[in-house]
Amino acid sequence: MESHRATLQRLRTSFRSGMTISENFRRAQLKQLLCLLQDNEDRLLNALHQDLAKPKFEAIVSELDIVINELHFALSNLNSWMQLEYVSKTLATKVDDCFVRREPLGVVLIIAPWNYPVQLLLLPLAAAIAAGNCVVIKPSEVTSTVEGVIAELIPKYMSPDCFAVVCGGAEETKALLQNKFDHIFYTGSQAVARLILQAAAPHLTPVTLELGGKCPCFIHDNVNIEIAARRLAWAKYFNMGQSCAAPDYVLCTEGMRDALVPAIKKALDDFYSEEPQKSPDLGRIVSPKHWSRVMGLLGRTKGRVVLGGESDEADLYIAPTVLVDVSEDDALMQEEIFGPLLPILTVSSVNEAIDFMNRQEKPLALYAFSDKSSVIDTVLQNTSSGGFCSNDGIVHMTLPGLPFGGVGSSGFGNYHGRWGFETFSHKRAVLLRGWGLERLNALRYPPYTETKLSW
Ligand code: NAD
Repeated sequence: MESHRATLQRLRTSFRSGMTISENFRRAQLKQLLCLLQDNEDRLLNALHQDLAKPKFEAIVSELDIVINELHFALSNLNSWMQLEYVSKTLATKVDDCFVRREPLGVVLIIAPWNYPVQLLLLPLAAAIAAGNCVVIKPSEVTSTVEGVIAELIPKYMSPDCFAVVCGGAEETKALLQNKFDHIFYTGSQAVARLILQAAAPHLTPVTLELGGKCPCFIHDNVNIEIAARRLAWAKYFNMGQSCAAPDYVLCTEGMRDALVPAIKKALDDFYSEEPQKSPDLGRIVSPKHWSRVMGLLGRTKGRVVLGGESDEADLYIAPTVLVDVSEDDALMQEEIFGPLLPILTVSSVNEAIDFMNRQEKPLALYAFSDKSSVIDTVLQNTSSGGFCSNDGIVHMTLPGLPFGGVGSSGFGNYHGRWGFETFSHKRAVLLRGWGLERLNALRYPPYTETKLSW
């Protein structure tokens, strides 16, 4: 097996040769990635099913189509993204050419987690290719079937001189991180993100961190409860609650809570039947370790289970679960749940909900449900989060026009569409000057007389 050092050397030599710079090369590689996804749809769907029991519909919309759409978007816009950006000039630079030139960063590293193992690896890869970089991708070892398929397909479809896959877990990644990259794009937990920053520091490597956190969902009294419950339940239990932008907990009044619980029950029965474990439309927890972690939270909470609560370790199953009487200092509120448990906490007003949310770390997404636009606006204006979506969950992150990323402890930097192209590009400031106007230039040379200052 090739050593990390040799892999990086190969990619760096290719990068220095300039082969990734042309629009044609970038287009060809983006199209190859498109072919990889289209030719191998069944293999990827099967791998996702094996690793996460991902329902076909969820896998298509959230793993394959989202990347395919991004690739089409990049192919349609690449030419305009690559154009020089001319900037306004001053009197002293009037006859110069002043522009921003987007240049690739070099050899970049993308490290992905297991919850959307195709999307979270290939979406940033598409952005890095569009920006003209050579790329090492490191899939999650937890979803090992997907990891194997990706490791086999990438060298078949993409230029092996410019793109490489490194497999393995923490030890392998730590070894990889000993090397110097020109950018590290990391998606995963806050704990590992700290290690990534430490590994990047000796090389002064810039880093993008796409992290998680507890995404709150405020539900105002003025809503269509049936629709709110369906949208909330869909966003929460999609991928078994293992989504970085899933609503982590609900804030609402006691009255709303009492109406919401039966409405969520109705939504769950409609979605997954009264026997959700038998439903083909509900995924599974990724591994026994994560199953134990989520069950540990359920064991430690002082909250009361009002829906669900059943589990089956052999099947890595935990029922879609709703809990009430959960307080701010409850076990469920101390860490990101990342599973199908939904605590409902009560507040008496919009302002109390805003104060509550502002006492927590800034989340990746924040949701507010209300019939009143003034209430939505108040929540939007008085809180901070990576993204915001009213009267629904998760859907804001499907748009390539919107930047996707966190703020504060939910991460920094962003991608999707042009935002990803920018993340993987250096914005080089260029001023091209000729030899003219030397009399005007002479004003800046010493001796610095008073006359020159009066100019
Ligand atoms: P993780 O941090 O355990 O693993 C992510 C990647 O880091 C994997 O490729 C893994 O091999 C590698 N890794 C693990 N330990 C390492 C170490 N000690 N040194 C170097 N590399 C190491 O994260 P996870 O459990 O796979 O993902 C869950 C977390 O990711 C959740 O917090 C979730 O919110 C977050 N997440 C965020 C986004 C986002 O877009 N913001 C998306 C999905 C998941």
